[in-house]
Amino acid sequence: MNIDLKDKTLDELEQLVVELGQRKYLAKYIFQFIHTQNVSDIEEITPLSKAFRQKLTEEGYFISEIEILEKQVDKDKTAKYLFKLGDGERIESVLLHDGKRKTLCVSTQAGCNMNCAFCATGKLKFKRNLSAGEIADQVNTVEADSGKISNVVYMGMGEPLLNYEAVMKSVEILNHEEGKNIGIRHITISTCGIIPKIEMLANEKLRPRLAISLNAPENALRSQIMPINNKYPLDKLIKTIKNYQEQTNQRVTFEYVMIKGLNDSHKHAQMLIKLVRNISCNVNLIEYNPNSECDYKGSNSTVIKEFASILSEAGIETVIRFRMGREINAACGQLGADWLKKLKE
Ligand code: SF4
Repeated sequence: MNIDLKDKTLDELEQLVVELGQRKYLAKYIFQFIHTQNVSDIEEITPLSKAFRQKLTEEGYFISEIEILEKQVDKDKTAKYLFKLGDGERIESVLLHDGKRKTLCVSTQAGCNMNCAFCATGKLKFKRNLSAGEIADQVNTVEADSGKISNVVYMGMGEPLLNYEAVMKSVEILNHEEGKNIGIRHITISTCGIIPKIEMLANEKLRPRLAISLNAPENALRSQIMPINNKYPLDKLIKTIKNYQEQTNQRVTFEYVMIKGLNDSHKHAQMLIKLVRNISCNVNLIEYNPNSECDYKGSNSTVIKEFASILSEAGIETVIRFRMGREINAACGQLGADWLKKLKE
């Protein structure tokens, strides 16, 4: 029996400690040492008695660690981390700097089977879901390397809502005041639109912000670039988001990657307005980052600015996200591009 203590919420640790015949309060030390002091050896949790530490080890408890294989830093300070997981799988996380804010974009799956046409990660075969501990550990490890992380976005490799349980558990771990204490409003989950899981999310007590990777304002085009749209088409997705909003009263973000000649015309902007105008939302227009795995090109900046003003004039709060980390393939849709290229060489 090998059980990772990093994968446990504080509540679960409390239960475990009591089951092992110890006082409940000791769980707090385990949680704090793992998530604030980055300890990966049970022996280093010194507030626990020697006998209890020994018992934990003997019973197969351990603390997992992800290993930094590579760190690349772009001239805009964006840093991309390549991690090796315990079983040798690889994932990436991206650290973005915005003034004093440090946002970490974390991965939730090794590979992804959603096959979005513009995304390099989608070309990597899906290997497995990450555990809550492996998701939280991306924050722990990058923070130890680069300083306090203020925001976390679940927007790296993988579709977070297809690894729902581990993702929600990692949110609880990262948000807990005895651990990283990252405010729930500073945590965002981005999904390509897994309707049943959005409905589940609406019922959660601890609920991060929700972002929808939209990228097209009509079904035919969305299905062309995001196959998930065949299963969960736009009309149903929008209805689900409206229900979500009624239930939660929470504003949502729509992400829209601007692809040259594909989804960036005035007509597309008008269709997008029609689609989202009754939803309390903001739209992030994301400059597309070409990668060796996909044939698309990014819209030019004049087109993006025009698109943004059409939306803004219609009263839709719109932000342009200019590419960050492009030189190191760290931008949206580029994760995994480096090692896909190496695999083909
Ligand atoms: S955009 Fe997200 S959901 Fe789509 S293939 Fe890439 S990682 Fe998967």
